[in-house]
Amino acid sequence: MSSKKILGYATKGVGQPLEPITYAPPKLGQHDVRVSVTHCGVCHTDIHAIDDYYGITAFPFVPGHEIVGHVSAVGKAVSDLNVGDRVGIGWQGRSCMKCEWCLQGEDQLCLDIVESGTWVPYGGFSSSVIADNRFVYPLPDSMPSEVAAVLLCAGITVYSPLRLYATEEKQKIGIIGIGGLGHLALQFARALDYEVTAFSSSPEKEKEALDFGADHFIVSTDEAILREAMLSFDLLLCTSSHKIKWDLLLNILKKKGRFVLVGFPDIEFNSTELVARQLSITGSFLGNRATMQEMFSFALTHSIAPKVELMPMTKVNEAIRRVKENKARYRIVLFNDTADTGA
Ligand SMILES: [Zn+2]
Ligand SMILES: [Zn+2]
Repeated sequence: MSSKKILGYATKGVGQPLEPITYAPPKLGQHDVRVSVTHCGVCHTDIHAIDDYYGITAFPFVPGHEIVGHVSAVGKAVSDLNVGDRVGIGWQGRSCMKCEWCLQGEDQLCLDIVESGTWVPYGGFSSSVIADNRFVYPLPDSMPSEVAAVLLCAGITVYSPLRLYATEEKQKIGIIGIGGLGHLALQFARALDYEVTAFSSSPEKEKEALDFGADHFIVSTDEAILREAMLSFDLLLCTSSHKIKWDLLLNILKKKGRFVLVGFPDIEFNSTELVARQLSITGSFLGNRATMQEMFSFALTHSIAPKVELMPMTKVNEAIRRVKENKARYRIVLFNDTADTGA
């Protein structure tokens, strides 16, 4: 292990811009690996955490959890990874390995989930991070680092529920919100053989949505079209965290239809249709380790890739501003342009 200081970009208080800080490398546990960061995606969750939306942020806070880099050191109990390997780490960097959910292989539901975040103690907007090797994924050689970075959080977030609810019979699915998550969801849903409709409040996204794999496009603010689509969808996957037209969207679900949330829109609807049609509303959070591995090979087989803007890590505040202002098309990944990348 090197004793070299780590350079990270940290916010020192709620909603504050990031600034460079240095800190001693966190101690490498026996199951840990240290990874020199080459790329790190900017996710809405980082911005929520900077703003302490979840009420769990410890300052100074170094965000970043779509991490790609090279292994620079391994703990004593690590046998599957070697120094130099190119690897990826998503939001979850460890788990307790002993709670009821970990024992069932549902790592993302670990009762110690707050402590399991890759950004504990410091995240990927930095020269180096540590994580438990069981949450560090070797990457296929042919997959570009910026593609892998986004798949590690946005990819698993949408793949996991789409895979869980896919059936032999072709189902009609609607993807609500065509942004960083939605544009990947369209690609995965198409490859999983759903009939896919993209819902966006921006009519100008129609052509790109169709190119990403949508069979149909609906402007989500068009109430007349939503009324016409009544009782026609098996599944709606909502990637949006903005206000949505709940009553009209629940109305387009078939009886026993399912509404899956991966975004965080405020919930407000009349419950009558929910009861009368026996609808389900459910959340989905990341995915387990087995699904992560499956997702990488599925994405490779079906040539699924996010559309990425690359920016240097030294411009992290500008990147965050673009994501906040909804200007990223469709995800931003930072590449590490600091002179010294590494502990
Ligand atoms: Zn994320
Ligand atoms: Zn656990």
